[in-house]
Amino acid sequence: MTTFKPGTKASWSGEKHQLAFGATQVPVVNSVSFGYDDMDEWYEIATGQREGHIYGRNTNPTNQAFEDKLKDLENAEAATAFASGMAAISNTLYTFLRPGDRVVTIKDTYGGTNKIFTEFLPNMGVDITFCETANHEEMEAEIAKGCDLVYLESPTNPTLKIIDIERMAKAGHEVDALVVVDGTFASPINQNPLELGADIVLHSATKYLGGHSDAMGGVVAGSKELVDQIYHYREINGATINPHAAYLLLRGMKTLELRIRQQNENAMKVAQYLKTSEWVTDVFYPGLEDHVGHEIAKKQMKDFGGMLSFNVRGGVETMNQLLPKLKLAKRAASLGCVQTIIGPPRVTSHVECTPEERAAMGIPEGLIRYSAGIEDPDDLIADLEQAFESLPKEILTAEVN
Ligand SMILES: *Cc1c(COP(=O)(O)O)cnc(C)c1O
Repeated sequence: MTTFKPGTKASWSGEKHQLAFGATQVPVVNSVSFGYDDMDEWYEIATGQREGHIYGRNTNPTNQAFEDKLKDLENAEAATAFASGMAAISNTLYTFLRPGDRVVTIKDTYGGTNKIFTEFLPNMGVDITFCETANHEEMEAEIAKGCDLVYLESPTNPTLKIIDIERMAKAGHEVDALVVVDGTFASPINQNPLELGADIVLHSATKYLGGHSDAMGGVVAGSKELVDQIYHYREINGATINPHAAYLLLRGMKTLELRIRQQNENAMKVAQYLKTSEWVTDVFYPGLEDHVGHEIAKKQMKDFGGMLSFNVRGGVETMNQLLPKLKLAKRAASLGCVQTIIGPPRVTSHVECTPEERAAMGIPEGLIRYSAGIEDPDDLIADLEQAFESLPKEILTAEVN
């Protein structure tokens, strides 16, 4: 399957040809256990000498199809699925980290990941060093001091900073550290961290992979040796994905490449429009030539993704008037849906932080995060335009803040 292009893999990978009753689509297998009349066969499957399923916490045919599809899209040897993106992240970290270990990471990781680094791992005696997110020299210096795991995310949430994955993977490997990348924002269509030298790529499948905001899941991909260890930790602690969720994610992934293509185009067009708008003071989108990470993004991504963020004149007050006027945007958390989603980080991704903490992370209170859907881009731009036009004109003449 690995020789096919991503769009072909998205629709075909993991889909078995022969299913019960001649079904052409992978069914939701609800059965918790899998029975055998042949005692030798049962033994061989139970001991991993032969492929098959024993118990639902370990493996399940629907879950496996979802894992196989992602594995192919990331050109990985193996993949294993989880109940959520955070389960994928925490299981990966807890599989490999031991008391006395050191992690080098960035300040802008996903909120939940940041909580694991600030609240939970330090209790286990793991030392975490947070670097300025796009300061590659600082990261290299910290990594060179010696560490066990380098944890990256690119593009980052919500200001779309870009980390040079190849460069950081090289630095990590010089000190024999494991290099883990959260690729959620890019999806496997826009970026393949394993090809850039990372050891493990993980995704919140809840976002782009599923694409319809109706199923939660997470997935980890990498070498068989590493993924087997993560799988073993997961089969014991039980953060297994539900087969119904795996089915919905598998179904969503069949159109992944088509959706991402449209979302890339929409985000670029919306970013370009916002750039010209007198209502907008800053636009953060790696596809814009003046974005600080544009050159790195061009090098390591196939396209720039469906996520962007922006600031408006008048900050929070303007934002509070603007957002309810939009007809083509769900005001909600999450991202990567076929419908456009809009929201301020202060009530979504960074709701756990204080305003001071957000300021320290470079997240203005009035920042607006925009997850482009698959709508017609002209409609999205017209919708933003009508929402801006409805605002009091005095905002434009007031002092820029
Ligand atoms: C949403 C998200 C997660 C967490 O995923 P869940 O499925 O919500 O647990 C992790 N990383 C990034 C970048 C995310 O956007």
